[in-house]
Amino acid sequence: MTSPPLRILLVEDNEHDSLAFRRAFRKSQVACEITECLRAEEALERLRTDASSFDLAVIDHGLPGLSGLDLCKELLDEETPLPLVILTGYGSEQLAVEALKAGVYDYMIKDRGQSYLDLLPVVLPQVVRKHGDRLARQQSEEELRKINQELKSFTYIVSHDLKNPITYIQGFTSHLIENYGEKLDEKGRLCLERIKVSARRMEVFISDLLSLSRLGRIVGTFEVVSSIEMVKNVTSGLQDRLQAHGIELVVADNLPTIYCDGDRICQVFDNLLGNAIKFMSETNSPKIEIGYEDMIGLHQFYVRDNGIGIDPKYHRKIFEMFHRLKQTEDEEGTGLGLAIVERIMNSHGGRIWVESEPGKGAIFYFTLPKTL
Ligand code: ADP
Repeated sequence: MTSPPLRILLVEDNEHDSLAFRRAFRKSQVACEITECLRAEEALERLRTDASSFDLAVIDHGLPGLSGLDLCKELLDEETPLPLVILTGYGSEQLAVEALKAGVYDYMIKDRGQSYLDLLPVVLPQVVRKHGDRLARQQSEEELRKINQELKSFTYIVSHDLKNPITYIQGFTSHLIENYGEKLDEKGRLCLERIKVSARRMEVFISDLLSLSRLGRIVGTFEVVSSIEMVKNVTSGLQDRLQAHGIELVVADNLPTIYCDGDRICQVFDNLLGNAIKFMSETNSPKIEIGYEDMIGLHQFYVRDNGIGIDPKYHRKIFEMFHRLKQTEDEEGTGLGLAIVERIMNSHGGRIWVESEPGKGAIFYFTLPKTL
């Protein structure tokens, strides 16, 4: 398959060099169409109106009037879609570096032996190909970013708008049970209880979805917080559940002061402790431990339980969205908790992982970089 001719705009005032340029391509048999401009101003005009007629511009630096480098800077400021290659005189490496810094794609030095002429037909098609690849990559990244953004907004809007109706369903179901429960038979009351439980599940699900979509949208403020205080707050909210299951809670006394988005890290503790309670086994001495290890450059926390444990083949899977293990399907949950936790850790430059075996409890570790 023959490739289409390379469409080059050559900005060169030296007639001898232009001829040599043409000759180099003729000799190489690389098909090309060369359009010449003698001055930078002329090239600027041409490219402003007709850039799509070219694949690249090759610009000599030593032009009369506006220099080649100034022309490049002007074109780059105007976000030209073309790759620019600058030709500089021998001994002008400094200038070439300046051109690259400004965003010029490549430079070639007109050496005295004129060997650069043999390189032109090899290098210029490569420049066009690589530039095309780079543009395509940028375009896909931009599209992906947009899709992600839309998806987040969609999740946010949907979950936000679902919140109201679900609150109504819960409110009216409770009202029905309390005020009209007597008038219903056993089956009717059971139906209402089921509606209430389902609505509660839906509420948790919606608030998890909202939380997930907010993670990408709202950048929380980082502050210096005492992790002891944070754990105290979280565990006081869980006291009833801990007591109901007879779970002993042990908190290490060396928890440090950390620099983080406090609300989010509270959410991490809350989630890990909530799971540790939820997935506790029928053991005689249920126990949850919150610990800390001081590592080089890192704070490492852990939440250990002696619950049902997790098969190592699911240690990564449980951090994926909506992933719940068969053995725990009956427990209330959405399968979003650990996905949220992992995103929070990522946004802090930290990591989370689990060590566990079925029947032997689980330890969830997470790290935060030390910035204090
Ligand atoms: P959810 O708790 O809503 O199901 P998560 O994302 O928090 O969702 O957890 C995903 C799954 O990982 C849970 O459904 C459960 O199967 C497993 N899991 C999480 N924490 C524990 C734990 N401490 N012990 C045993 N299994 C766990």
